[in-house]
Amino acid sequence: MSEKKQRLEIVTPQRKVFSEDVKFLVAPGTEGELGILPEHAPLITSLNIGIMRVQQDSDFIKVFISGGFMEVRNSKVTILAPSAERAEEIDVARAERAKQRAEDRLAAKHADLDVMRAELALKRALLRLRAVNG
Ligand code: ATP
Repeated sequence: MSEKKQRLEIVTPQRKVFSEDVKFLVAPGTEGELGILPEHAPLITSLNIGIMRVQQDSDFIKVFISGGFMEVRNSKVTILAPSAERAEEIDVARAERAKQRAEDRLAAKHADLDVMRAELALKRALLRLRAVNG
């Protein structure tokens, strides 16, 4: 693979989660997975809750993102996400608790349940756990 690099920045309202040069990345676009190499054509797309795979040297690292937007321009990839964590930053016990809470809400089916909100919380928790456990 080419030795060319592109800058990847992942930003949330709270912090800059990632700001490094990378060789290749795969992002969960709402229209499907998107693989981005340096010098990719300019692009703006929305993102799903999912796991980014980022190649720096030979290894890939995983970064959870809870949706958002991606801009690609001049070998710079900017991701704006409501929340994001590198796999090693994920608090597994917290994600397990979030998963349990969402599952309990969906199972109890109270009249005032916001189903979509509970389903999105469950999806975030499951994908955080997948980012850690592979
Ligand atoms: P929770 O119910 O546990 O807050 P959530 O999916 O509702 O989970 P988000 O709204 O996506 O949480 O994120 C809120 C903030 O908490 C963000 O800064 C996010 O990075 C952080 N966060 C949420 N869950 C975890 C986790 N399991 N490990 C580390 N950081 C987390």
